[in-house]
Amino acid sequence: MAAGTAAVGLAFAAKGENGMKEITLEALPYAEDALAPTISARTISFHYGKHHAGYVKTLNGLIAGTQYEGRPLEDVVRTAAGRGDAAIFNNAAQTWNHTFYWNSLAPAGKGGAPSAALLAAIEAAFGSLDACKATFADAALKRFGSGWAWLVAENGKVSVESTPNAETPIVRLGVKPLLVVDVWEHAYYLDWQNVRADYVKAVVGGLLDWNAASRRFA
Ligand code: MN
Repeated sequence: MAAGTAAVGLAFAAKGENGMKEITLEALPYAEDALAPTISARTISFHYGKHHAGYVKTLNGLIAGTQYEGRPLEDVVRTAAGRGDAAIFNNAAQTWNHTFYWNSLAPAGKGGAPSAALLAAIEAAFGSLDACKATFADAALKRFGSGWAWLVAENGKVSVESTPNAETPIVRLGVKPLLVVDVWEHAYYLDWQNVRADYVKAVVGGLLDWNAASRRFA
């Protein structure tokens, strides 16, 4: 019996190593120290290497042998949300949200500026880019407990929202996330301790990847 159980485990492990069935931890788009001092290499080593990697590992364990195995991550997120499969949803959404977070940030000075089209949509919604950033930062600051602040687009209109825990706007058809900021304590506690406001101010003010947001908006 014990030998049989071990053999099943090895079979799944082999599948994963072939890269055909498992959800993968996507590579960071920059070095671990690239966002310092706002987000230190030490924070990223835990946040990416332990928290994000942990969601991926847990998710793969939960979906092995189920209808979710082998499906694209976005599909797993949406289907689990629709079916109320909470553990799979939480780990899949956290996997997706974190990959999107790393790709919402850029080293200081490398994030560029909104495209003309995105800037026009931002000005239509908020009046100015500075007002957009202030609204974004406010949403991040006021999210009670763990969660996320998002800049999203829907039918060409941009807006700011925040979600609790693992919740993600990709479950709503037609909503296109442009940028996200993680406000779980693990995102900032090693660098900023309890002062979420300073972390948010530094990220929104200096690390957002507006080039990426512009590509997503187009
Ligand atoms: Mn996080």
